[in-house]
Amino acid sequence: MTITTNAQASALRERNRAHLASAEAHLSRIGNAKAPFTETNVLRPFNEIGIALANVASECGLMAEVHPDPEVRAAADTIIQELSAFATRLGQDRPLYEALGGLDVPALEPVARRVVELARRDMRRAGIELAPADQERVRTGRAELVKVEQEFAKNIREDVQEVALDPAQLDGMPPDYIAAHPADAQGKVHVTTNYPDLIPFMSYATDEAARRALTIVNGTRAVPANIALLEQMLAKRAELASLLGHANWADYAAEDKMTGSAAAIREFIDRALAACRDSAAAEYADLVAEKGSEPIGTWDTQFLLERVKARKYSYDGRELRPYFEYRAVRQAILDLSGELFGLSFEPVELELWHPSVETFAVSVDGRAMGHISLDMHPRDGKFKHAACFTLVPGFKGRAKPHGVLVCNFPDPNAQQGPALMQHSEVVTYFHEFGHLVHGIVSGEIEWARVRRPAEWDFIEAPSQFLEEWIFDYDVLRRFAKHVETGAVIPESLVRKLRDARDFGRGTHVQRQLMLSAIALRLHDRDPKGVDTTKVVFDASREFSKIVMPEGTAMQASFGHLEGYTALYYTYMWSLVIAKDMHGAFTNGLMDLQQARRYRDLVLAPGGTKPAGELVQDFLGRPYGFDAFKEWLAPRG
Ligand SMILES: [Zn+2]
Repeated sequence: MTITTNAQASALRERNRAHLASAEAHLSRIGNAKAPFTETNVLRPFNEIGIALANVASECGLMAEVHPDPEVRAAADTIIQELSAFATRLGQDRPLYEALGGLDVPALEPVARRVVELARRDMRRAGIELAPADQERVRTGRAELVKVEQEFAKNIREDVQEVALDPAQLDGMPPDYIAAHPADAQGKVHVTTNYPDLIPFMSYATDEAARRALTIVNGTRAVPANIALLEQMLAKRAELASLLGHANWADYAAEDKMTGSAAAIREFIDRALAACRDSAAAEYADLVAEKGSEPIGTWDTQFLLERVKARKYSYDGRELRPYFEYRAVRQAILDLSGELFGLSFEPVELELWHPSVETFAVSVDGRAMGHISLDMHPRDGKFKHAACFTLVPGFKGRAKPHGVLVCNFPDPNAQQGPALMQHSEVVTYFHEFGHLVHGIVSGEIEWARVRRPAEWDFIEAPSQFLEEWIFDYDVLRRFAKHVETGAVIPESLVRKLRDARDFGRGTHVQRQLMLSAIALRLHDRDPKGVDTTKVVFDASREFSKIVMPEGTAMQASFGHLEGYTALYYTYMWSLVIAKDMHGAFTNGLMDLQQARRYRDLVLAPGGTKPAGELVQDFLGRPYGFDAFKEWLAPRG
């Protein structure tokens, strides 16, 4: 397959409808197959369907979030609706189910056997065992749900809010930020909810009223439209879950994950909450002491954390910014992942959806293995968070993978002065790069169903695992150089960064668990009459003394409610595994032998084995909770 260029709506539709038509043709080929059912007449055509659908989901999923032309984004959304309709129908295709069931499974090689098992389970989850009338209801429900979800995502993507402030309200902001925010003709400075504006402002602006105002506009993005859409989403999911024999959507969504049930998710949240309670309480006391009064608001948290870090550890995040200029960081991340995982990156000229997108050919151990593209800066109508997408999925003998990072980092071409990043943004960059590496090194799997780990709640483990590197002096000294003097980042500054990072981990985990509980509670009960804002505020009060501003409704812009649905706990679940895997790097994080073992045992197999087994292969034992608990325990 050729690399997709700057797609026009008509070309996008044509190419992807051709994939869907080919999937359709393979499905009818299976329908016409006569027993004996074999790898040749059933499983191979079934895999062709999987490859076609992966191609459509990849290109259209990406274009819907990044293409500057609203017509292309809309066309991509339309194709995804068609894809979803086909996928539901596929899941309910009786001849396919019987053909898969008629295969001589023990005679297949182990990965093919796993593909058959997963495919049959997928079909049960799509309603293959239901009566025709209920199957029809599942199909209709799915189709309606996709449209609502797309509308929900679109509203988040397209709603950027801002506050107009007096220049004095930038007090506390670093000089590069002030330079990048000149006053307009009316003497007002505009600060938006886009991350390069929002994140530093919440960390450093001394004016509490201004931070609160920005928090409120950010917490009312996509309100009220997405409140109504969320209610529709929850109702449709509950109806689907019940049709498919589950008590609620959370149970349905968890069934094929590592946790397996809503009860297990609840138990995990409680266990992790207990592990972070003491640290979070100690940190809260420090925040109150710093502010001198209660309540502490969500608009205060990051600011006060930074202040306490400055006071207790003489840590000032602003001091790090000059060491993280965007261009230097971009190169450094390529170099670092190259060294760790045996990758090399060669810039290539490709006309993609936007001129700022940079593309590299990737080799693994000297072998050409695909491409990556970096779409790294904010623009109108673009995805607002940070994530890794796929443009072309890789399959053995078919196509090399092309992965895409979509972020919202400061743009060196769109501002005065150097584009300096927060350390946390560099961490995000390497985190997302971890997903990219995963997609590249697992790009030679044959079977579409196991291209990626089968368990969604595992997918953040490999990327959260990599975040640790960006806190390591031996790693940082390689690339963190002062933008003006070229001086290497001082070891003392990195030590302060590490101490300061540890301060705040309880608060961070507690907040992540609160979000996990919100996502779960929206999906583990009958949604009729559920007030989603009340669920959010109740959880907020239950998990922490830090208050959310009245009048906000963060669930309206909680994008994970679309893709992850009830499964936001994935991040903390994966972090438990990531913390445990770090134990294997006893010779420092630049232990290349361990890094290659990790690449080959955890990343490259994709979903060809259950996630727990991949981790066990690497660790030599099952993963456990202890490393996470130890990390969270209060220290001396
Ligand atoms: Zn991630």
